[in-house]
Amino acid sequence: MMQRRQLVLGGGAFGVAALAGCAADTGAILTSTAGGSVPAKTRVLVVGGGYGGATAAKYVRLFSDQKIDVVLVEPGDAFVSCPISNLVLGGYRTMADITTRYDGLAKNHGVRVIKDMVSSIDPAKKTAVLASGPTIAYDKLILAPGIDLMFDGVQGLRAAQAEGRILQAWKAGPETLALRRQLEAMPDGGVYAITIPEAPYRCPPGPYERACQVASYFKAAKPKSKVLILDANPDVTSKGPLFKKVWAEQYAGMIEYRGQHKASAVDARTNTVKFEVHDDVKADVLNVLPPMRAGSIAVQTGLANANARWCGVNYLTFESTAAKDIHVLGDSIQIAPAMPKSAHMANSHAKVAAAAVVAELAGWEVNTAPMLTNTCYSFVDGRSVIHVASVHEYVAAEKTFKTVAGSGGVSAGPTEQEGTYAWNWARTIWADALL
Ligand SMILES: Cc1cc2nc3c(=O)[nH]c(=O)nc-3n(C[C@H](O)[C@H](O)[C@H](O)COP(=O)(O)OP(=O)(O)OC[C@H]3O[C@@H](n4cnc5c(N)ncnc54)[C@H](O)[C@@H]3O)c2cc1C
Repeated sequence: MMQRRQLVLGGGAFGVAALAGCAADTGAILTSTAGGSVPAKTRVLVVGGGYGGATAAKYVRLFSDQKIDVVLVEPGDAFVSCPISNLVLGGYRTMADITTRYDGLAKNHGVRVIKDMVSSIDPAKKTAVLASGPTIAYDKLILAPGIDLMFDGVQGLRAAQAEGRILQAWKAGPETLALRRQLEAMPDGGVYAITIPEAPYRCPPGPYERACQVASYFKAAKPKSKVLILDANPDVTSKGPLFKKVWAEQYAGMIEYRGQHKASAVDARTNTVKFEVHDDVKADVLNVLPPMRAGSIAVQTGLANANARWCGVNYLTFESTAAKDIHVLGDSIQIAPAMPKSAHMANSHAKVAAAAVVAELAGWEVNTAPMLTNTCYSFVDGRSVIHVASVHEYVAAEKTFKTVAGSGGVSAGPTEQEGTYAWNWARTIWADALL
């Protein structure tokens, strides 16, 4: 499906060596029509150093042959990966295993990494203000702030979360460890319950993988315990038959799945979750995932123009449909059909967006046929893995991405060989985004 293509740069000022391999992977060709080059002192400001933002920062530098000044603003001390974080809950990996420093972006690519938050963006003036005070001007802004958890979607959850009673751990970090501690403290014979919001949400298979990880830990350490999956969706949203088979065979009597369970409220005193229709459920460890939306800086900037939750973009360039010269990518965007909110997809978005941003700044033709790829691996225990994969092509007539017929697919069943692939996928994508 993926073609290796030659980059055509005409008389532009950019070298090609650094670009060839990367561009081929996303179908992101850069074509110079006018022989233009990036004006001196051009700056791209990247907001958010997660999967989307870190990749975009690096690739704008690569695609512009280091000509564009790239400033990345990210509040985190280091990049902590959500993929593989469920294995920290299962006890198979540590936080150190899923953490990568940001200094590779500076040392290897000359990205200027600023540890801060962007507190406001002025699309008309093309400036952003940092929480610490300074204002940064940009020619193009790439916004990849991930998701915001809509705590108010589940009554009582905000307070329960603030008290550390009912956690999400849907952004990897200290909460991942805190949830692990709750599991460790739970008595044998206890119940862990995870609630899942209606799709779309970050990482469709993530909650089901988490249920497997918790069950795997229980099987070894607390075999009388139970895992309840309380899903607002009518059925398992990703790899359904594969997960159900694992639950029936590997975790029989331990994992129970209940569809159409939309959480409406929690009571932290009694560790109870209430549903729109069904009876209350009490659990020893409650892991309640509320509905999600684009990261708050995107919402606050007026970019969340799809259901007031997600950011509409022109899929050819990832430019916001609400503001010129702001390109939104990753989990924050309004998805095209069958496009998951995943790290792999954010990484793919980033390369297409980076190529488009560089092309527009240099006055080159933007690639009219970008492609995206996705693979999501799920560990069903400490070693065995299942995957789902897909290839997405831009369909000009419909101005959207669609999956390529016959591309991708799912595993036949869990294998340890796929476990090796999954771990290698993680190390490769961390290197691709950050080193
Ligand atoms: C448990 C779990 C397991 C997962 N497993 C997989 C998997 O196996 N495979 C897969 O492909 N995907 C997986 N995902 C999904 C994946 O983590 C997300 O889709 C991915 O992180 C999205 O990338 P992003 O860049 O949009 O957001 P993020 O990676 O969350 O990055 C957003 C960044 O923006 C920063 N930020 C936010 N606001 C501001 C601001 N105002 N100023 C500056 N910075 C800001 C944040 O600090 C953050 O670092 C999983 C998710 C979870 C929760």
